[in-house]
Amino acid sequence: MLHDDDRALHVDTKLIHAGEWRPRIEGAVVMPIFQSASFQTREAADYHDIHYLRLSNTPNHVVLHRKLAALEGAEAAVVAASGMAAITTALLSVLRRGDHLLVQRCLYGGTHAFVTRDLPELGIEHDWIDAGDPASWERQLRPNTRAIYVETLTNPLLELGDLPAVARFARAHGLVSLVDNTFATPLGFCPAAHGFDLSLHSATKYLNGHSDLVAGAVIGRAELLERIKHRLDHLGGCLDAHACALLHRGLKTLALRVRRQWENAQRLAEFLESHPAVARVHYPGLESHPQHRLARELLQGFGGMLSFVLRDGLEGARRLVGRLRLAVFAPSLGGVETLVTLPAMTSHASLSPQERARAGIDDALVRVSVGIEAPEDLLEDFRQALA
Ligand code: PLP
Repeated sequence: MLHDDDRALHVDTKLIHAGEWRPRIEGAVVMPIFQSASFQTREAADYHDIHYLRLSNTPNHVVLHRKLAALEGAEAAVVAASGMAAITTALLSVLRRGDHLLVQRCLYGGTHAFVTRDLPELGIEHDWIDAGDPASWERQLRPNTRAIYVETLTNPLLELGDLPAVARFARAHGLVSLVDNTFATPLGFCPAAHGFDLSLHSATKYLNGHSDLVAGAVIGRAELLERIKHRLDHLGGCLDAHACALLHRGLKTLALRVRRQWENAQRLAEFLESHPAVARVHYPGLESHPQHRLARELLQGFGGMLSFVLRDGLEGARRLVGRLRLAVFAPSLGGVETLVTLPAMTSHASLSPQERARAGIDDALVRVSVGIEAPEDLLEDFRQALA
C-alpha cells in the first residue's frame, strides 16, 4: 500500500508527504474531507470492494493508513475510533477462547481493566511479566500462550522494558508481540524495526496532538492487520471522516511538537529533581532513572511525559494542582498544552488500591504531560506552585 519512494524519506518529510494521494484530489493541497457514508460501486463487486465508512476505506482513511505505516516503517496500518478500540480489537484478533496472554505489569488503566475484567469473561487468561527481566518470561509460558503485550514507556511510571528481548522472545516461541507505542510516538521508537508484530496507539494523544479528538491506530504486519481490519469492520469501531481529517492535520506537525515536548520535559524533570519539595521524579531522561542507559540505546527521545511524588504526599499534590496557573489539571496527554493529573484518580482509578500498590503507583503520584509552552514560563509555573 505504500508508495515505494516514501520509504526512503526522512520521518519529518513522511509526516507531510507519505501516503498522500497522487495526483492530489482535484489538485487540493490539503486532503478534502469525504463526508459520505457510502461510495458508488462501479461494477458488480464483492463485499471487500464496497467503499463504506464503517469499513475504514474512504480516501480519508486510506491516506492515514499509508502515512502511519510509512512513519513506523511497517507494512500496514488501520485507524480506529479510539486508542481502546485499537487495543481491544487487536487483542481480540490475535486471541481466542482458551488462549493465554503475557502482559507487562504496569499498564494504562483502560488496558489493565480490559485484560483483567473483560478478557477472562471471554475465556482468555493472562499472567503478568516483569518486562525488564527476560529470564523470568519462559517460566510463565504455557502451551496456550499466544501473545505478549507491553508498553514502550509505561503509564504513569515511565518504566522501560527490554523491548528488543520481547520481540525476540515472541519470535522464538511463536507468539504475537504487541507494544503500546503511544508515549514514545513513531519518532521516539519504531516497533517494526525492533521486530514487533504490532504497534498500538492512542492517536488521541501525540499523533493528533491538539486534544480535540479521540482516535486509535494499529500499525504492523500486513497479515495481522488484515485480520484486525476485518474484526474492526464487525465490531464497528471505525473513525469518523472528520476525525480522520483532524488527525491527518495534527500528524503533519508531530515532529515539531514532540521534539519541543521532549526538550521541555527534560528541563522540567531536572528542575523538579533538584527541588527540595520533591521526593522523586520518574523520567527516562534523568540519570537517576533505573533504565536511563537502556532508554539512551532504544529511544530517539525520552518523551514528553514525567511523573513525580512530593514530600508532602497527597496533600501536597492536591495543593500543587490547585496552584498551577498555566498547566491544566485534566486527564489525557500528548496535546500542545501542559496537563497535570493524579493517576490514582484518573487513568488508574479503575485499579483497586491493592492493584495500584502492586504496580508501584503511589496515590500521591502527579503525572505531567508536558506541552510546547516556552520552557521558562512552564518552569516558573511549577516554581510558584511549589513555593
Ligand atoms: N494507551 C495509553 C498509553 C493511554 O494513555 C491511553 C489513554 O489515556 C490509551 C491507550 C487509550 O486511549 P483512548 O483514550 O484514545 O481510547
